[in-house]
Amino acid sequence: MADKLNIERFEDFIAQYPIFEYRILNTSDLTVEDRVRIVCQQECERYGSTWACPPAVGTLKECEDRIRKYGQAVFFSSVAEVSDIMNMQEMLETRDAHEELTTAVAAFLKEQGFETFTLSTESCDICEECAYLHGQPCRHPDRMHPCLESHGVVVSEIVEKEQMEYNLGGNTILWFSMVLFQ
Ligand code: SF4
Repeated sequence: MADKLNIERFEDFIAQYPIFEYRILNTSDLTVEDRVRIVCQQECERYGSTWACPPAVGTLKECEDRIRKYGQAVFFSSVAEVSDIMNMQEMLETRDAHEELTTAVAAFLKEQGFETFTLSTESCDICEECAYLHGQPCRHPDRMHPCLESHGVVVSEIVEKEQMEYNLGGNTILWFSMVLFQ
């Protein structure tokens, strides 16, 4: 088991990918907020429809305990360009590349001897219809990433505190993920 991330090796690794910015965070500094999950419940049509969303991810307390179990996290963004920022379909299509990138970051950390847990963007859409809707276990638990919001993580607060970019303007999108590790 590794106990400390080798930053030089990590930077060599991420140089192959379009990671825009990253920070290594201590999970003890992260806050989880019920208000984020209230937004999920009130405003997201995917609420209650996948294993990656509340309430399937567990109570806020269970999510917080899960986060704190991992001592540190890589929080990062990738940038995508679209021809029209108002075109939701086009915007969502750029998400797949970010999800692949997120999987690659987690794989790197695992290779380095860490246990990982990944929180990423939006809900899971690996399967056409989530097994959750049929009362069955997740079909791809090793590939599925719950979204950051499902665990009450306030992305905008982290971005502000860490002095990262939240919005680059124009027809660009920033996607965020967090790979927790210990
Ligand atoms: S991998 Fe399939 S079953 Fe698992 S959360 Fe995603 S959509 Fe649902």
